[in-house]
Amino acid sequence: MQYILYFDYAGICVIAAVMFSFFYRQTIKTRSSQFFIAFMLVALITVIFDIIGTIALKYVHDMPLWLCYIPQMLYLGALVANPVIYLMYIISVVRDKKTIYKWEYPIIFTPFALQILFVLISPFIKGTGIFWFNENREYLHGPLLYVQYAITFSYILGSLVLVIVKRKAFTQIQEITIYLYIAINIICVVLQMVVPELLIQQFGIIIAVMLIYMSMQNPEDYIDKKQGAFNALAFDAVFNNNVVRGKKIGVLGVRINGLRYIGDTLGEESENEILREIVQYLIREAGKKRVFVLSQTKYAIILNEGEDSKTITDKIYGRFSQPFVSNGAEISLAVSTCLIRCPDVAAQTKDAYSIMDYCLDEKHATEHNETVVAQKEILEKGQRETLILQAMRQALKENGFEIFYQPIYSVSKKKLTSAEALVRLKDTGLGLGFVSPDEFIPLAEKNGLILDIGEFVFRDVCRFISERKLGDMGIENIHVNLSVVQCMQESLHEVLTGIMEEYGLDYSRIHLEMTESAAVASEETLKSNMHKLIEKGICFALDDYGTGFSNMVTMMKYPFKLIKLDKSMVWAASDGEKQMSLLKHTMNMIKDMNMDIVAEGVETAAQANMLAKMGCDYFQGYYYSRPVNCENFIKTVREHNGV
Ligand code: C2E
Ligand code: CA
Ligand code: CA
Repeated sequence: MQYILYFDYAGICVIAAVMFSFFYRQTIKTRSSQFFIAFMLVALITVIFDIIGTIALKYVHDMPLWLCYIPQMLYLGALVANPVIYLMYIISVVRDKKTIYKWEYPIIFTPFALQILFVLISPFIKGTGIFWFNENREYLHGPLLYVQYAITFSYILGSLVLVIVKRKAFTQIQEITIYLYIAINIICVVLQMVVPELLIQQFGIIIAVMLIYMSMQNPEDYIDKKQGAFNALAFDAVFNNNVVRGKKIGVLGVRINGLRYIGDTLGEESENEILREIVQYLIREAGKKRVFVLSQTKYAIILNEGEDSKTITDKIYGRFSQPFVSNGAEISLAVSTCLIRCPDVAAQTKDAYSIMDYCLDEKHATEHNETVVAQKEILEKGQRETLILQAMRQALKENGFEIFYQPIYSVSKKKLTSAEALVRLKDTGLGLGFVSPDEFIPLAEKNGLILDIGEFVFRDVCRFISERKLGDMGIENIHVNLSVVQCMQESLHEVLTGIMEEYGLDYSRIHLEMTESAAVASEETLKSNMHKLIEKGICFALDDYGTGFSNMVTMMKYPFKLIKLDKSMVWAASDGEKQMSLLKHTMNMIKDMNMDIVAEGVETAAQANMLAKMGCDYFQGYYYSRPVNCENFIKTVREHNGV
C-alpha cells in the first residue's frame, strides 16, 4: 500500500507554529497551560513517529524484523496517549483545586496501561495483537486494534461528558472547540478506516490542538495594563499552580497608604505616574514573574519556600522612607506589608485575599516598618468580620438594630434624670451569637457604616423621647454616642439638628458623648460642629475619661459640659490609697472647671456612697440598671421615680 504522508508533514508545520506562538507569548505557568504543553508534545511526537514508521514500512524488506516493529510501536503508544492527556487537560480546566484525586488514578490510567500493554505484546502474539507482519512482511491489523479504538473512544467520551456536565467552567469558545476536537477525531478515525492509505488521523488531532490554543486564555488577560505588571487573574493562576503541586510559597502582601490624597490634590496623572514607579521598583527588586497588582494600591509578591521576606521588605521600606517625585512635587507615602505562608495559612487565593486585607489594615499593621506575619486564626477573625459586616448591612435595611437605654441617676435630684442610648445588633441568624457593640462599632467605623448606624440611633432616640414623652417621667435628656467618623463629617450639625426638628424636640433633650479619639481626628471640623450644636443648646460629654493619654488636654480644648469617668477609674479607687487619691483629685479638678461628672460602672451601693461623698453629680451602672430595651427602661424609670 502506498501511504500518503502529506497530512503528517502539514501537521508538523502547524504544530511547530502553534508551539512557537505559545512559548513566545506564554507569560505565566498555570496547570492547564502545563497540560496543554504536554498535549502539544505528545501530538508532535505522535506525528513524528507516524512519519518514521511509515517510511520504515517502505524499507521493510531491507531491515531486521524487530526494527520494523519498533517505530510502529512507538507511534501507536504515542497515539493512544493523546486522548488521555486531553482528558487531563479538561480536568485541569474544570477543577481549580486539586487536579486529580488519588482514587481517580486507577480509573484514568488503567485503560491506558492496557493499551500500552497491547502495543508491547503485539509482536509476540502474531495475528491476534494490534498489528503484525506476516511472512511477506506485510503490515496487518489484528483484533486488538478494535479494543484499542474502543478505549480511545471511551476517553474521548469521558472528556465530552465532563465538558457537558461542567459547562460553566469553560468559555463558550472553549466549549465549541472541545466539541470540534471530538468531532474531528471521530471523522478522522472513520476516514482512516475507510481510506487506510490516507494518514490523516494525526493531522486531525493537530488541528484540534490549534483550535484549543486559539481558545485558551489570552496572555494579555493576565496583564494590568495601567500599571504594566501581572494582575490578580495571573496571581490566582500562579498561586493555584504552586499549591496544587504541593509547593509551599510565601505571599508577601504590600499596600501603599495615603495615595488617595495624592490623586485628590495632584490629579490622576501624577497618581498613575507614581503607581507605575512603585510597580517598576517592586519588579526590579523581586523579578517580573513574582509581582502581581491586586488592586490600585495593593500588590502581592510570591516568595519561594524558605526565602527570607526581610531582604525584600527592608528594601521596600527603605524606598518608601524616601519621597516619590511627580511633577516637581515630593510625595511621601506609607507602606504596610504582611507575609502569608501558603498553603499552611491560606490554601486558596480568596483566603489569602481576606487575610491580606485584614493584616494590611492600618490598625493591624505595625507602625514600625514591620511585616505582619499572618496566623491561621486571622482567617476566622476575618470571616467573622465579614459576617458581622453583612449582618450590619442587613440590619440597616431590615430594622435589625435596637436601642437599649441605661438609666443615669442624678445625685442632687435623687432620681433617674437621664439615660445613655446603647445600640444592639439583634440576632442575625448568621450563627454569630451575641455581637457586642465593642466588636461591631469599630468595624462599622472602619467601613463607614457607622454614619448610617449613627443616624439611625439618633433618629430612633429622638422618636422615643417625643413619642413616649420621657420628659413627663423626669427624664430630662438622653445621651447619644458619637463616633469619630461622624465627628469628621462637616455636615454633622445639620444632620442632627434636622432630625431633632423633624420630631420637634427641644435641643436640651440630647447630650452627645464623644471620646477623645474624636477630638484628635480633625480639630477644625470638630470644633465648628460642636460650636454650632452648642449654640442651639445641645450639650457635649467627654466619654471614657481616664483611659486615654491626653484626656486633660482634650477636656480643656473643647467645650464639654460633662465628663464621664470611665468604669476602670471608678473601680480602681477601691484598689488602694493612690488610686483613690487620683480619683478624688481628678473629680476636684473637673468641678473646679465647672463641669459636671458622670461616674460609669457603678455596681455597688458602696461605690455610689463613696462617689457621692466626693461630689459626683451622676451615676450610671448596673447598681441602678443594666442597659435595657425601651419598654423595660420606661418600667424602671416609673418604678424608680414614682411616676
Ligand atoms: P461606652 O460608651 O463606654 O458605654 C458604656 C458601656 O459600659 C456599655 O457597654 C455599658 O453596657 C457598659 N456598662 C455600663 N454600666 C456598667 C457597669 O456597671 N458594669 C459594667 N461591667 N459595664 C457597664 P456596651 O453597651 O457594650 O457598649 C460598648 C461600647 O460600644 C460603648 O461604650 C460605646 O463606645 C459603643 N457604643 C454603643 N452604642 C453606640 C452607639 O450608638 N454609637 C456609637 N458610636 N458607639 C456606641
Ligand atoms: Ca458612651
Ligand atoms: Ca464610656
